[in-house]
Amino acid sequence: MAVPQNRVTRSRRNMRRSHDSLVAGNPQECSNCGDLKRPHHVCPACGHYDAREIVAVTKDVDLDEDAA
Ligand SMILES: [Zn+2]
Repeated sequence: MAVPQNRVTRSRRNMRRSHDSLVAGNPQECSNCGDLKRPHHVCPACGHYDAREIVAVTKDVDLDEDAA
């Protein structure tokens, strides 16, 4: 089993972990519906990107209805 050759001090460990914090997202308003969306992604609310409809948004599918 590999064994660390040198002890990592609290200081050095914490310096390494200084880059580990999570960064908040950068939501932007959809140009079509105004909802907040991730930049450079299709809007999950209306399916538009760059003022064009990319994904057709449908209502929730009732699985019980299809099973009968
Ligand atoms: Zn939208």
